[in-house]
Amino acid sequence: MLLTTTAQGLYCSVGDFYIDPWVSVPKAVITHAHGDHARWGCKKYLAAKDGEHLMRTRLGKDIDLQSLRYGEQIAINGVRVSFHPAGHVLGSAQVRVEHGGHVWVASGDYKIHRDPTCKPFEPVKCHHFITESTFGMPIYRWPEPREVFKEVNQWWLENQAEDRTSVIFAYSLGKAQRVLTGIDAGLGPIFCHGAVETLNAAYRASGVTMPETEYAGRGEQRKAWKRALVVAPPSAQGSVWLRKFGEISTGFASGWMMIRGTRRRKAVDRGFVLSDHADWPGLLEAIKATGAENIYVTHGYTAQMTQWLNTQGYQAQVLQTRFTGERLDAGAEESEDLATEVTEDTEGEAEVGSAE
Ligand SMILES: [Zn+2]
Ligand SMILES: [Zn+2]
Repeated sequence: MLLTTTAQGLYCSVGDFYIDPWVSVPKAVITHAHGDHARWGCKKYLAAKDGEHLMRTRLGKDIDLQSLRYGEQIAINGVRVSFHPAGHVLGSAQVRVEHGGHVWVASGDYKIHRDPTCKPFEPVKCHHFITESTFGMPIYRWPEPREVFKEVNQWWLENQAEDRTSVIFAYSLGKAQRVLTGIDAGLGPIFCHGAVETLNAAYRASGVTMPETEYAGRGEQRKAWKRALVVAPPSAQGSVWLRKFGEISTGFASGWMMIRGTRRRKAVDRGFVLSDHADWPGLLEAIKATGAENIYVTHGYTAQMTQWLNTQGYQAQVLQTRFTGERLDAGAEESEDLATEVTEDTEGEAEVGSAE
């Protein structure tokens, strides 16, 4: 077994490195900058070049980070390691590991649907594929993002006509920028929460083209707010920061909006089905394209997915993760509104508190 799970996370003993470790380790290979994958405090980091600004924004600009272009290969103690686009967020990568003729690929989080903020998912041939399964149930089938953005635009226009500020909740790393590049920026001004604006800067520094945005903080902007779209992390829901906009209509961009009742439970006016994870057909397509016989399922609906794959002739098993069975495991960045353990946006709120 070239990759095994240990108490610290997914480990390559021949190469002596971890992939997305759960604790700080000497050498961490990171699939992407989301908090449940990129942990603070590792001695050395290796990640895809496209995600360099995000890694430094999240983990500190002075981290010891080596970055590789997609497809570029290096040897770590004789193990060949390379990154390949995962299509999940900017800089997200599948990690390909090869030794003694055996090829393993750890997918990290991935999606198949097109996203202008990052390179599209690229299937990589391997013998052993470690796949996520955040939305690994047949009920999850995403609508075309183009159609979803049409709905968002329509909702924004309706709110303008009613003199209401449109507030859309979207995870601050990835989803928020995807919303920004997907909507019709010509409809009105766009303001962002501090946590989103910080990451917007990292995206722009990485060369991603986005519409003009402004931090929604100052009173003199007040007149523009009525016609505006405000992009905020889910944790801003119910916050003091949100009150300054006066009358608002709220929307939520997440794959979970597919489930009946989620919108009502989240107490938002509109749900927009937009996910940065593969849906059920996407997962199956990706798994098939690897040509792998051995599939290890992690994150989310692991038992259901594993069972199904075994009926299809794969050798599938659940890959134990630290948070198995807990909410945080089920696509933390999608369920941050449920999982208070996710730290990122508490920072954003602290920032907002001081700006008030
Ligand atoms: Zn992620
Ligand atoms: Zn994740």
